[in-house]
Amino acid sequence: MTVSQSFSLEFFPPRDQAAQDKLVRSAKTLQGLRPSYVSVTFGAGGSTRTGTAEAVGLLQNLGFDVAPHLSCIGSSEAELLDIIEGYHAQGIRRLVALRGDMPSGMGGDTGALRYASDLVRFIREHRGDEFTIEVAAYPEMHPEAISLEADLQHFIHKVNQGANGAVTQYFFSPHAYFDFVDRVRAKGVDIPIVPGIMPITNSSQLLRFSNMCGAEIPRWLRLRLADFGDDRASIRSFGIEVVQRLAQDLLDGGAPGLHFYTLNGSEAGMAIIPQLSFK
Ligand code: FAD
Repeated sequence: MTVSQSFSLEFFPPRDQAAQDKLVRSAKTLQGLRPSYVSVTFGAGGSTRTGTAEAVGLLQNLGFDVAPHLSCIGSSEAELLDIIEGYHAQGIRRLVALRGDMPSGMGGDTGALRYASDLVRFIREHRGDEFTIEVAAYPEMHPEAISLEADLQHFIHKVNQGANGAVTQYFFSPHAYFDFVDRVRAKGVDIPIVPGIMPITNSSQLLRFSNMCGAEIPRWLRLRLADFGDDRASIRSFGIEVVQRLAQDLLDGGAPGLHFYTLNGSEAGMAIIPQLSFK
């Protein structure tokens, strides 16, 4: 059976009314492109628990299939179960299961479930196969991992706890993605691994964020961005060109789909997605 390539979108919970209005505007604009689902991030240690749930409800009301992110670190099993059951009751059947990061100042109590693999197992124990579960993947290695091989073993273990698919951290080298997929396949694991696509709209923000999450900005790209200085408009149009080429290379190389980090905007998605050929 051939499954056609699709795309999904990621949003984050808005902080205030103006940000919520922007999210709704962007989501409605992008809805016309027919994403397969949309996801909503979850703040470290449950800090956006209410905000995530509200954004999930908002997007559900707009008619999207919504996948809330849920991270386990720093939360009790009872809290997590409460969230999972709440989503189940409102008709959610897809989750992105994560470990998350400890927010600073929360001390060292990781909670009952230490890794995303524990959360996947926990969801399966309580709700069987009722949820489609996505997990995170890191083609360029998770920043805390001790080696590429150890990280791969942990990823395989996480998938074996019952994940249906994975979405990657963003990257700008397609080779990193294809190499990761080859290494996963060599271990006999065949779940879809969907590249996460980050738009380039603001170079200082991108550099800062990439440092934190361990995503590599290739030297040529760093240098090109530096040349634009503060010229935001040129960075945006260059960013669209680069990301569109990356996305098409990934699709042409056999990626099962794409997951766009929208940053709650619609401009980059509207410029890039309609130009792509999906098989
Ligand atoms: P895990 O898969 O648990 O891995 C974390 C680290 O632990 C890795 O280094 C792994 O190698 C290691 N490890 C795993 N199992 C073991 C084990 N048994 N023994 C020893 N080491 C082990 N963060 C948020 O806070 N909210 C979000 O909504 C969010 N969404 C994301 C969406 C995507 C697509 C991605 C790629 C990341 C997202 N993140 C989010 C960031 C993520 O929470 C962090 O990268 C976090 O540090 C790791 O989460 P994980 O689920 O990948 O963890």
